[in-house]
Amino acid sequence: MKVIVTGGAGFIGSALVLKLVLEEGVDVVTVDSLTYAANLSSLAPVMNHPRHLFVHADIRDGEAMADLFEAEMPDAVIHLAAESHVDRSIDGPKAFVDTNIVGTSCLLEAARHYWSGLPASRKGAFRFHHVSTDEVYGSLGPDGAFRETTPYAPNSPYSASKAAADHLVRAWHHTYGLPTLITNCSNNYGPRQFPEKLIPLMVLNGLEGKPLPVYGKGENVRDWLFVEDHADALWQVLNKGQPGEVYNIGGEAERTNIDVVREICELLDQSIPTARPRRELIAFVADRPGHDARYAMDISRIGAKLGWSPRHSFEEGLEKTVTWYLDNRDWWKSIRSGRYSGARLGLSAGT
Ligand code: NAD
Repeated sequence: MKVIVTGGAGFIGSALVLKLVLEEGVDVVTVDSLTYAANLSSLAPVMNHPRHLFVHADIRDGEAMADLFEAEMPDAVIHLAAESHVDRSIDGPKAFVDTNIVGTSCLLEAARHYWSGLPASRKGAFRFHHVSTDEVYGSLGPDGAFRETTPYAPNSPYSASKAAADHLVRAWHHTYGLPTLITNCSNNYGPRQFPEKLIPLMVLNGLEGKPLPVYGKGENVRDWLFVEDHADALWQVLNKGQPGEVYNIGGEAERTNIDVVREICELLDQSIPTARPRRELIAFVADRPGHDARYAMDISRIGAKLGWSPRHSFEEGLEKTVTWYLDNRDWWKSIRSGRYSGARLGLSAGT
């Protein structure tokens, strides 16, 4: 089996590529334009692997994508390439429209032309899998959870661009018959996440004794999933999911942001004690505009249909994550700068 993974030099993409190549024996072509969020060292274990090829290309380049499909003849594409940070989408939405919407349409067209020319024996087995977010569903009150049937109500430029991409994927299935899959997943955390997102930012600021900026009162609730569990879910959906279907993925681990930050402080204090407990570094700052109050995923469908459920509890996953950042300082030292250690950027509660 050969799979094209777009965005494979990013956080979730690299976890998926490592799993596919090293654990599942799949041939993988990683396609990535190497934006600020990419880190090729995340792919170091597979960079010279015979089952892995890295292609430096932009999904907005339709011709390059068409050439890639013809040259590589994949059995599937798992599409993760995106602008992924909500705060950046508020500061500059254009890149989100360009990559997440226009880029997805270019990739869909390249995939469709390639797929329509496949022999019947391979056509039915081809898959176009779009990796999306729970944020397309909007914000929840104190009760309930998003289901696959929940109407879309995206609130940020980021979530609106992902919602638009989901609709394009859906339309390419219904109009052209392209065998698509869509997964909507809750907030991920784990090794190799760019330190503008909540968990790595708090770990690194806490390590360096810098302020831990938390939006509002830290009461926003997110459902957290360890990235390796997400990669596992994507593999299950690719193999067993029904074309045209949507699957919600989540960690069943709802936490307020302030509770997450306090747990990180405790783990850091246990590993590297300091004179003052790190929770004294917490600094509440003005809230993000339009900040969604709560996300929660109902994952009963993927459990019932495909038998997937998360393997890591939040406590296990967080401990693994903190340990990884402590043990892999070279990975983050080179990308860490004042820009990612202070106020506005980096206060995101996830994606
Ligand atoms: P990330 O920002 O860490 O990585 C994105 C990758 O895409 C980077 O390597 C970047 O270089 C690449 N990329 C960006 N624009 C590109 C372009 N035009 N052409 C080719 N490559 C391009 O993101 P992530 O957190 O790993 O998220 C991956 C996907 O999963 C995204 O589609 C995101 O919307 C989705 N998602 C993320 C989360 C989360 O919590 N991180 C949750 C649910 C869904």
